[in-house]
Amino acid sequence: MRRVFVLSLLVLFFLEAGTVTFAGKTFTTVTYASRESVTLAEFAAKTGSRHAWVAEKKKGVLVYAGHTYVFTASNRTVVIDNQAGIHLPEPIGWDGVNLYIPVAMLERIFSVKSSDLKPSEDIKIEKIILSGSNPTTIKILASGPISCEVIENSSTSVTLKLPVGSNVSQISPSGFVSSATLRNHNNQTTINLKLSRECTVSSKGITNGIQVTFTPKAVVTQPVTKRKLVIVIDPGHGGKDPGAVSKKGTKEKAMALDTSLRLKKLLEAQGHTVYMTRTTDKYVPLADRTKYANAKKADLFISIHYNANRSSSPSGFETYFLGMHRLEYAKNVALRENASLKYDIGENAYDPDAVLNDIIATLLTNRFQRESEELAGYIQDASAAKTGFKDRGLNQAGFYVLKGCSMPAVLIEGGFLTNATEEAKIRQSSCRQKIAEGIAQGVSDYVNP
Ligand SMILES: [Zn+2]
Repeated sequence: MRRVFVLSLLVLFFLEAGTVTFAGKTFTTVTYASRESVTLAEFAAKTGSRHAWVAEKKKGVLVYAGHTYVFTASNRTVVIDNQAGIHLPEPIGWDGVNLYIPVAMLERIFSVKSSDLKPSEDIKIEKIILSGSNPTTIKILASGPISCEVIENSSTSVTLKLPVGSNVSQISPSGFVSSATLRNHNNQTTINLKLSRECTVSSKGITNGIQVTFTPKAVVTQPVTKRKLVIVIDPGHGGKDPGAVSKKGTKEKAMALDTSLRLKKLLEAQGHTVYMTRTTDKYVPLADRTKYANAKKADLFISIHYNANRSSSPSGFETYFLGMHRLEYAKNVALRENASLKYDIGENAYDPDAVLNDIIATLLTNRFQRESEELAGYIQDASAAKTGFKDRGLNQAGFYVLKGCSMPAVLIEGGFLTNATEEAKIRQSSCRQKIAEGIAQGVSDYVNP
């Protein structure tokens, strides 16, 4: 009796398995919750996409066609590029092992255009809760996933910008928040908060919401007008990690260190206090570099690198800040730099996808993205002018070394060691001096705009 039952289940399974063709690929389908579905693993395998499963969050991450998709088990929302939610008629299936994407929704999920990347108009802020006296916390809860830009106008004034409308129109002040105003316009909500004391502001994503915490500052900060900063310079690579190596044997680690030492002198001449993550040809794990900057309570973090490419033709100067990559090229630069991690944890333990997940989580609450972008912009403009190198512009990507920085942070790719003409220039100390001068000018422009 028992045997017959098992057999009939098997037959049922085979009967229900089929195939579907989407975007030129054929996928094996299975039936889940009465819907013909493709598992996330199958979709990733057949399209050659990178994917990962974040077990503790029950989230699947897929990088496909230049977009990053985050699926959540038994949830109707698919978040794309960390900003948009596509709302499905039914939740993404999950059986404890696989995520099931209904075939009927493939088109809707994966044929997304950039213009569609706006949060659904269905999502509204439903509740805003201010609580606690020390620290004071504001919780913003919505009917779906939301992102929030936290802008610190000063240490007593904070603006929260959310790309969704609000069913809440008033917030009662409480704790350190002495006044709170909310503006809801065109499905954009702006919340202005005035604080009764100077506070440190921290934020994190919570389910369908965001939580921002205000903790009073123990020490009164220096007036903004002084503008003498603590800056950590991070010469890329070092020791057993050479970074990129040119055909002639020029090592990125050596060029980065020399440029950094030059930059240090120039920034000190501007009156800033400068620390370096390394001053010799020493190996420093990526995570330690960030920790060091946080421990020094740095105002800025500048990581110095030189570029490499499979092709010998690309040339030019570019500046990065931490963000979801918009270009495949930028992603590859980040992947190459993140590969230094294998020196920390061993080649086999280094998992680019796990690193990506980690960075995605960080982006949800990165408070310094706007300032980092601003700093990167000044550095890029000044450096391109100073060096005469091709201006490759600003870029954003998931650099591990910028991930945990509690300050505006940028990563500079000062030129290509794989381009023979550019490499010959970079080898000259006069060229590296110009690069350092360009970066220092950019910092000066950022400090005194
Ligand atoms: Zn590098």
